[in-house]
Amino acid sequence: MVKGRLFVISGPSGVGKGAICHKLIAEKGLKFSVSMTTRKPRAGEKHGEDYYFVSKEEFNEIRNRNGFLEFAEVYGNFYGTPRLEISEALESGRDVLLDIDTQGALNVQKTCDDAVFIFILPPSTAELRRRIKDRGTETEESLNRRLSAAIHEISLLAHYDYCVVNDDLDVAAAQVGAVIEAERLRVPKDTKDVTELIDQYKGGI
Ligand code: 5GP
Repeated sequence: MVKGRLFVISGPSGVGKGAICHKLIAEKGLKFSVSMTTRKPRAGEKHGEDYYFVSKEEFNEIRNRNGFLEFAEVYGNFYGTPRLEISEALESGRDVLLDIDTQGALNVQKTCDDAVFIFILPPSTAELRRRIKDRGTETEESLNRRLSAAIHEISLLAHYDYCVVNDDLDVAAAQVGAVIEAERLRVPKDTKDVTELIDQYKGGI
């Protein structure tokens, strides 16, 4: 069985990563990794769908037993990717999508060298400010904090394989979708998987 691929999407807060992921999950048959967070739910967010909302104690307990593939502190809250769900999906041949921050992505790079890293850029800093403001969930102080963090995140672009500018959601989602399709067409890196593929043809003689 050829293992699934791991796609990691990062980008500044408010850039529209969530909307892009949402569009692609069903369309590309991806498994979305639901993260755990100690952040409080925003209006409309569902436990188990957007995040698993947990207490700091629960988070630490999972962290201590090495239950996260990666975790990071982002804007004062903890976020972590549950390890088991992902490894099960990948082992069963399913492609998995992670929406995580740059610290998390850089940590995933250390352990998963065949993961594909995609960065979502805003059309401009002014547009990013407008989008975060329109969400109506940030104070002026936290808006400025998120914008400085955005510039820091963008400065890590060289660690990624692809970058997509989210000016128009449909276009950006189609471009990320094209990356996923292209990666699915790659000749497998593992010689065992290539042999398996070739053997399917040999079996047909
Ligand atoms: P938000 O609170 O706006 O939903 O997310 C804040 C940031 O945390 C976003 O950049 C998001 O990609 C990131 N994030 C969400 N889940 C995880 C995770 O499991 N690990 C890491 N490292 N970052 C995450």
